Amino acid sequence: MTRIYETFSPEETRALGKSLGLKASPGDIVCLNGDLGTGKTVLTKGFAEGLDIQDDVVSPTFTIIREYTDGRLPLYHFDVYRIGDIDEMDELGYEEYFFGEGVTLIEWSNLIAELIPNRALRILIEKDPAKGDDYRKITIRQPEG
Ligand code: ADP
Ligand code: MG
Repeated sequence: MTRIYETFSPEETRALGKSLGLKASPGDIVCLNGDLGTGKTVLTKGFAEGLDIQDDVVSPTFTIIREYTDGRLPLYHFDVYRIGDIDEMDELGYEEYFFGEGVTLIEWSNLIAELIPNRALRILIEKDPAKGDDYRKITIRQPEG
């Protein structure tokens, strides 16, 4: 099933993330793709809010993973933009996260496509210059079954 949303401000994207976070279950995997600056981290902040996480969510670009454990479920926030080699994911022990009891959210997941389980929720965020700086088209694809 594919749903398409349009947002016109960071707050709206954050609210969409929050609605997803509210519904999240243990073991969920959420993939976030889209160019730099489209709003993957903004959506993640909302998602964390939906999980009742109070800690400030900051982009894990240089650490690849940040873990938040003060919410309803643990949140494992990956940003794999700077991953050099897929073996780095093994070194990080990614399986403990992907197949753990928390919720995994991965910015730039397409860079590690072969590691993503089929059951993952896929989110793509796109700009459209014709519709203004703050416009975003957000496509959410849920696998069948
Ligand atoms: P990414 O993680 O995809 O690189 P960020 O979430 O860090 O992007 O940044 C998105 C930027 O775009 C922020 O500066 C945010 O204020 C801005 N922005 C403008 N309009 C929107 C929108 N509709 N949704 C999300 N972010 C938006
Ligand atoms: Mg980001």
